[in-house]
Amino acid sequence: MRVYLSEDDSYHFPVTLDEISPHLVAATLSYEDHYFYSHPGINPISLIRAGWLNLKAGKVLSGGSTISQQVARMLENRPRNLPSKLIEALHAFQLEARYSKDEILEAYLNRAPYGGNIVGVGASSRIYFDKHVSVLGPGEAALLASLPKSPESRRPDRHHKVAVHSRDEVLRRMLKRSEISEAQYLSAIQEDVPNSLLEFSLYAPHLCDLLKQSADDSTATIRSTVDLDMQQTATRLLQQHVQSYNPQGIRNGCVVIIENQTAAVRSLVGSADYFDRDDGGQVNGAYALRSPGSTLKPFVYALAMDRGLITPTSLLEDIPINYSGYEPTNFDEKFHGAVTVKNALIHSMNVPAVILTNRVGLENFLYFLQKGGISSIYGNEESLNLGLSTVLGGVGIRLIELTNLYATLGRMGAYKPFRLMESEESARETQILSEGASWLTTGILTELQRQDFPQNWQSTAHLPSIAWKTGTSYGYHDAWSIGYTPEYTIGVWVGNFSGEGNPKLIGAEAAGPLLFQLFSVIAEENSDWFAEPDEIDTRTTCTISGMPANPWCVSTVQTAYIRGVSPEKTCDLHVQLLIDKETNTQLCPQCRAVRDGEVKTFVQWTQTIATWRKRNGFPVSELPAHFRSCKSVLAQHAPQIHSPAEDCSYFLRDHVPLHDQQILLEASVAPEVKVVYWFVDGKLIANTGAGEAVFYPPERGHHEVVCMDDEGRQATRRLIIE
Ligand SMILES: [Zn+2]
Repeated sequence: MRVYLSEDDSYHFPVTLDEISPHLVAATLSYEDHYFYSHPGINPISLIRAGWLNLKAGKVLSGGSTISQQVARMLENRPRNLPSKLIEALHAFQLEARYSKDEILEAYLNRAPYGGNIVGVGASSRIYFDKHVSVLGPGEAALLASLPKSPESRRPDRHHKVAVHSRDEVLRRMLKRSEISEAQYLSAIQEDVPNSLLEFSLYAPHLCDLLKQSADDSTATIRSTVDLDMQQTATRLLQQHVQSYNPQGIRNGCVVIIENQTAAVRSLVGSADYFDRDDGGQVNGAYALRSPGSTLKPFVYALAMDRGLITPTSLLEDIPINYSGYEPTNFDEKFHGAVTVKNALIHSMNVPAVILTNRVGLENFLYFLQKGGISSIYGNEESLNLGLSTVLGGVGIRLIELTNLYATLGRMGAYKPFRLMESEESARETQILSEGASWLTTGILTELQRQDFPQNWQSTAHLPSIAWKTGTSYGYHDAWSIGYTPEYTIGVWVGNFSGEGNPKLIGAEAAGPLLFQLFSVIAEENSDWFAEPDEIDTRTTCTISGMPANPWCVSTVQTAYIRGVSPEKTCDLHVQLLIDKETNTQLCPQCRAVRDGEVKTFVQWTQTIATWRKRNGFPVSELPAHFRSCKSVLAQHAPQIHSPAEDCSYFLRDHVPLHDQQILLEASVAPEVKVVYWFVDGKLIANTGAGEAVFYPPERGHHEVVCMDDEGRQATRRLIIE
């Protein structure tokens, strides 16, 4: 895919003698040193002859050197004069004493000059004929054999006629010595002599740079895992894609394609244009740490499914929350009340993802990312000071590692480190997610009814099935799109290496379409989709709560769950209450004894959701009030304080008026509640309608805040103001 110059800036591909075409060995011996295998290092006859010629001319004309002498010269590089020749002759003897003839010949063929910066037969046969040195025929061999004697003046690309002439001379000698047949000779002299040098192709340059850096031996031939067709397709499509965004100030991107089964990186395009100097084309963007936006979310959902916290139909809260001062909002800056896991994930809602990360446990999530090969997290949790915002892209991640993490979903939860070299052994798999959780998550990510499904693909008839997720980093710096099929995982990043933000850098728009384009090229039609794992089963589920249905749930549907893992609690949204026939009030176990009631089904949202729905104009069915004459209190619907936050200290700033530093008091209460009372340190400071916010002018010190509803149920929170 790529050839690097050696340290002395020459092309030099070392080969062993047995790799070299016998024609080339024969032609070289015939032309340079016919008695090579029988002389002791120097050839007295040719030396005398050369000495005579040189004497006659008064300068060094003819070499008369044996191959051994030439090797001695190549190793030492002395000026061409008589004392040097004597020293080289001596060293030729020493070489012969120490090395075999074959070793000396091999050294010669690897070190001789073949014109320009081409050294050795390995490079010259590739550069002149684009062939491996083992397959050269007599004509090609003769041309190469003629070059070392006068490499510059015989270079076929510059002095074509001279080169043809020299080749023919070598061929004539070989014919005379019966080293080739008459037929071989006649065909060889008809052959064209090349008049240009091969220009080396440059595929996957970033990957090559990476492999070269990691190679122990600079002369090694490295077999990469790259699929050349796929690499070229990815390079071309990325370049076209980024070019179309150029006028809008988006200049770069990268693509990684991993084959799931082998974890082999089949394509790595590190930038939109390797040769672009203005925007750091040689930088390998696939290894740059960038904010991953929402692309980590699927893993929190998968982990939560694995831990039996949710199924795809479970409801999650999407309401304003506050974790010790951290208040995530959604991309569209709206909240949606109660949403299903499936909708929360495909619409990439932030609040449910943060709530879920908190439920799964931040530590567990970070540990999972480490196990999944995200190296920026490894051993770094503390120094990075990672919080719940990690799930929203609050940690830098490399495209190649992120793509491999998705390949883990494509392997139904089995993690494998990716590899770049065919020689690297495929590492053992580690199951870091269950097959069931991976399969359910994949099902959600395959859903097409979502905003980040590229518009121009919506009418495509032969769209391959893809599980995918897009991501946009905070401040529009990075657009991501990562998807997988059973065979391949593709990761796309689009942005600027300078880090410059751009309102167009939205995952769904700037990266998604390229992901689909790549899959439509590489995905095989009608290939099998993921098989349903054994641990997946279906059960009757309430269509509203998404929980296993009660007999009184209004409507039901069959949904998938993980047997023995998924939550088994039945629907708590649809409740049955005993209603007093006369007063139409609710009867508790105490009043039930004295009153006659009938069972009715009601929808009972959690207090938080009910409050949110009320405040945002959604219907909330009012549960009947408690039977008035009953003395007991229905304690299960006590208010829940949202602000002040738990375990949170407030700091007063001295130069800001107290009026501008008031503390928000807010709680959600049961749907039937009409009035809410707020007490601070036992003093009533406000009574308001349900769900209304109150502001409290702060005083330094420790306080006790109590929220009480009109049925006397209360909640308490400690408030520290410093
Ligand atoms: Zn139900």
